[in-house]
Amino acid sequence: MQSVHTGDYEAVIGLEVHAQLLTATKAFCRCSTQYGAAPNTNVCPVCLGHPGALPVLNRQVVEFTLRMGLATGCTIRPRSRFARKNYFYPDLPKGYQISQYEDPICYGGFVEIELEDGTTKRIGITRIHMEEDAGKSIHDHDVDTLIDLNRCGVPLIEIVSEPDIRSPGEAVLYLQAIRQLLMYLGICDGNMEEGSLRCDANVSVRRRGSDRFGTKTEVKNLNSFRNVERALAYEIERQIAVLAQGGTIEQETRMWDASSGSTRPMRSKEFAHDYRYFPEPDLVPVEVSAEWIERVRAELPELPLARKRRLQEQYGIPAYDAGILIAERSLADYFERACGALREPSPERYKLISNWIMTEVLRILGERKIDIGSFPIEPERLAELVELQAQRTISSRIAKELFAELLSSPARPSELVAERGMVQVSDAGYLEQLVERALSENPDTIEKYRAGKVAVLGFLVGQVMKYSQGKANPELVRTLLLERLGHSDALAR
Ligand code: ADP
Ligand code: ZN
Ligand code: MG
Repeated sequence: MQSVHTGDYEAVIGLEVHAQLLTATKAFCRCSTQYGAAPNTNVCPVCLGHPGALPVLNRQVVEFTLRMGLATGCTIRPRSRFARKNYFYPDLPKGYQISQYEDPICYGGFVEIELEDGTTKRIGITRIHMEEDAGKSIHDHDVDTLIDLNRCGVPLIEIVSEPDIRSPGEAVLYLQAIRQLLMYLGICDGNMEEGSLRCDANVSVRRRGSDRFGTKTEVKNLNSFRNVERALAYEIERQIAVLAQGGTIEQETRMWDASSGSTRPMRSKEFAHDYRYFPEPDLVPVEVSAEWIERVRAELPELPLARKRRLQEQYGIPAYDAGILIAERSLADYFERACGALREPSPERYKLISNWIMTEVLRILGERKIDIGSFPIEPERLAELVELQAQRTISSRIAKELFAELLSSPARPSELVAERGMVQVSDAGYLEQLVERALSENPDTIEKYRAGKVAVLGFLVGQVMKYSQGKANPELVRTLLLERLGHSDALAR
């Protein structure tokens, strides 16, 4: 067998992402889009495809699609058309899906992803078009296949990327960027488990340095970031192995099976669907005026990457922090509200707020499975806690206790501090007494310290903190101890 290294090949990937739009009603009828309703209750003659029932386009679908198109720098077609995509499937009562084929509403945009080395890369967006979802088949082993048509006619946008992606990792970054954008724009809930965001991956490999694309396969059934990464890694390796043995890749659709960690053929090109697209005769072309486009453009929120850069700049926080804070728009809003509530704003305090959010706040959100909107400590109270901490009125240990109390109390941090006598103790006379106690209870420490075991200093500070129930000012305790041990601070460090 010819020896071929994986490194001799390069992957070429393009993603097709379907996002369910957060409209209250379906794309072409007035049925509710509510997820989880009793099966087959959100249906009507239009979405069931009864003869003679006519679709009417939901204006909000166009509005939402425009948002995504403009946020990704697409050109908006002033006049676009719907088409029928014909195929037979039990969960498609009309026998066709209303979609867009030629002349999609948005085309020619890009999404920026941030690579691990901090550089950015543009992934081209070929097109974004509107379409309706099909129903859902539920394969129940005991009964049979059940059909729920509630999802029929729910609006989707399909976002098709250029084959600009070069690795499974980049594919995940791209998909995360798309999801984040959709959520920032408030047009999709981004829930991959419930199928609000679905992804098909097209992948081929070629000899490194070649300027021609290889034959691609399309991988379906990718319902998490992890599965996108695993499936692509598997498929790339499989294709390389086939080529390395002198074989050829067949253009086909393959199914990802997460339990076995492999892809298997679903249908080959020979059996590929011929959708017999043709213009939808029941809908007039969609006309979008320049005024409409400009209004939507003006109303776009600040987008994730721009916000990330602004947070770094304006608050002096590290890129890492900013990346976590902008993960969700509401989290970044919380951070900025807390910063805005500081009476004496400073970079040190901004960083403290960021630290609290990245550690304790996110931990609580995760534990309670809630989002920041229902987090019990309002940004104003977190700001006050940070000020008490920054002014050294309370020690960081007390700050943690206080944080825990604030979770279940509506009180202001300063009230609790006064009420509970949590104020940090900086009374040197009192602290000296505690230092003496620590030394007399641990008589061997002085000797150890003088023999060079500087670590005992931390231990002694800890003892004093314990005697004071966490209220002692640790910096002052440290200074007093150093004086008592007869060393200068510089020497001990
Ligand atoms: P199809 O006609 O099979 O639907 P398209 O040209 O519409 O193919 O492309 C579908 C997706 O496949 C796009 O995201 C595109 O970027 C990607 N794609 C196209 N050619 C290749 C290739 N050779 N390798 C990997 N991805 C590709
Ligand atoms: Zn309906
Ligand atoms: Mg296609």
